[in-house]
Amino acid sequence: MTAVPAAPPTFGRFFLPGPTEVRPEILAAQARPMIGHRGKGMEQLIAQMMPGLQRIFRTQRPVYISSSSATGLMEASIRNCGGRRVLSLVTGSFRERFYKIALANGVEATPLEVPLGEVHRPEQLRAALAAGRYDAITVVHSETSTGALNPIADLARVAHEAGDVLLLVDSVTGVAGARVETDAWDLDFVLTGSQKALALPPGLALGVAHPRAVDRARKASHRGIYFDLVEFESFILKHQTPNTPALSLMYALAAQVARIEAETIEARWARHAAMAERTWAWAAEMHGRGVDMRVLAPEGFRSPTVTCLTVPAGKTGSAVNEAMKARGYTISAGYGALKDQTIRIGHMGDHTVAELDALLAVLAEVVSA
Ligand SMILES: *Cc1c(COP(=O)(O)O)cnc(C)c1O
Repeated sequence: MTAVPAAPPTFGRFFLPGPTEVRPEILAAQARPMIGHRGKGMEQLIAQMMPGLQRIFRTQRPVYISSSSATGLMEASIRNCGGRRVLSLVTGSFRERFYKIALANGVEATPLEVPLGEVHRPEQLRAALAAGRYDAITVVHSETSTGALNPIADLARVAHEAGDVLLLVDSVTGVAGARVETDAWDLDFVLTGSQKALALPPGLALGVAHPRAVDRARKASHRGIYFDLVEFESFILKHQTPNTPALSLMYALAAQVARIEAETIEARWARHAAMAERTWAWAAEMHGRGVDMRVLAPEGFRSPTVTCLTVPAGKTGSAVNEAMKARGYTISAGYGALKDQTIRIGHMGDHTVAELDALLAVLAEVVSA
């Protein structure tokens, strides 16, 4: 054997808020041979990772594994649990996505807007629920376009005061980075995608449905086929998936769940909180040095996984982004309406504060230049 030694794997320069950087050993886990998806091997693969997945979502319920991006499970939650009238809490681009999905599926949707970067407050939701009849509410936990973190536990409490209203939560940049307590917060449907805080390649979505949500689905008239949650429920109870799953990605998922089990979900949340706080403190330092950079989201409502920062006058988000790229670092320009005025740092997944510090040192040079 004359194998050429591989270059040492580099990790720690890719800070996009999705997809996030994937560890070499997790990428390598995908290279295992195929197995039949109706055989014992598949059942063992799912059964072995299920307790870890449940600890990540903090639930006793089974965790659905969907071979789709996260948007697939957003659509699933609307079709199965949306009923006829949905209240969509909208601020950034991703909340708006839920609203558009509802409309595209023939569901009557009412947007409840707050200014960009802000979050929804419980009293605002209470007032909206008093003023109209809804079957479901859609909300984004961590808004990836603004870095704002919605107070999901409080919103869930208000939602359930209103009776038979289901809360559908997009926690795509929440789960595995920000605290999510699916059971304790009594959430009706929570979903995420593989390529964000879970630090896996894109292509899988994971979701948890409360029994209330499954009951609602059973009564829905047109659940479709691919995203039928009643099917997801009955198959996952046998440790299977309704259709042929993205098996290679499931190997990566199993490997990553084992890593997260070793780290513990609490330590993972703490690591994300530390990275976020480091980023906010850095922005304050820059501000103190006369470089006008501010964290867009209000204090107390900032996501631990992604920070959206305004760029100093005379610079644009894309120019900062390009300058970082030239120095070997990937971050992101702003999203949608915020494209030019902001940059975003995805400090999520498997990154550490030390790697983030190295990035911030380079970013300080770029924005001061
Ligand atoms: C990335 C993201 C999505 C979309 O996920 P896809 O996997 O591209 O479908 C939805 N919501 C939020 C908050 C996201 O960050």
